[in-house]
Amino acid sequence: MTRPALSDCNRCENTRIVTAGARGDIARAARCRCYTECPLCDGEQYFFEVDEAGYRFTRPCQCTEVDRKIGHFNDARLPARYAQARLKDFVPGVSGGLDPTAYSAGQAAFKFVTGFRPGRQGLLLHGPVGTGKTHLVVAVLRYLVVRLGVRVRFVEFLHLLADLRATFGDHGRAEDVMHPLVQVPVLAIDELGKGRGSDWERDVLDELISKRYNAGRTTLFTTNYPVDAPPGARRGGFAPGTVARPKRHPDAAHEVLEDRVGTRIHSRLMQMCEAHRIDGPDLRRHRPGG
Ligand SMILES: [Zn+2]
Ligand SMILES: [Zn+2]
Repeated sequence: MTRPALSDCNRCENTRIVTAGARGDIARAARCRCYTECPLCDGEQYFFEVDEAGYRFTRPCQCTEVDRKIGHFNDARLPARYAQARLKDFVPGVSGGLDPTAYSAGQAAFKFVTGFRPGRQGLLLHGPVGTGKTHLVVAVLRYLVVRLGVRVRFVEFLHLLADLRATFGDHGRAEDVMHPLVQVPVLAIDELGKGRGSDWERDVLDELISKRYNAGRTTLFTTNYPVDAPPGARRGGFAPGTVARPKRHPDAAHEVLEDRVGTRIHSRLMQMCEAHRIDGPDLRRHRPGG
């Protein structure tokens, strides 16, 4: 049976999915204009076919897959101000003025998504405020959900703490907050190390990442605190214990990630992730978002 071919569309880059506004601070996706009504099935969402024995059966159309991805996108809670984030923003020549470290982190992110398999080692992006870490991590999540149909979730660390505090020690409600974050195949935790660094905050983080680690799930992180690894070892995969002990600075401005999250969590992070530093000018001074 011949079916009409779908036309090429620049607006959605043939994914048939576009970002369509926001609900609060959360980006929403919808079908692209080129796909409002699926031309393959005329909006029926399935085809009738006949098997070898002559029985009629229905087969779902590919538009049901597009709608499934849109559902995953809308569950991912991607921040609306990064809704247009794309990996190509980190290709030299496409986006001017980025630090070379941003391009190499972009390249690592591209390798991460093209070689993606569930449970793959995650990425930890660290560097000063406003260098594009959140932009890059959202671009990764967007690619996974829109191109590959992977279930993903974004959470800002301070928001997670606030949501948990709001449960007032009600164990059931706290579980309602944590459970989806433990279960989702790919989770990105933004702004790791922010907060007061109290024992309770560390316990929350420890519980979340230990459960994900033990279940073999992929986790991505961004942090403004540097990972004080020896030069050359920053590409990750190094065993805990081989990381040079960070110097302790009394000045909070010189704190490293390990100071913020503790040695135990820090070495777990180094096992779970490939660490990439991004340097450079504060992008937020030049364009919206960072
Ligand atoms: Zn389109
Ligand atoms: Zn269809």
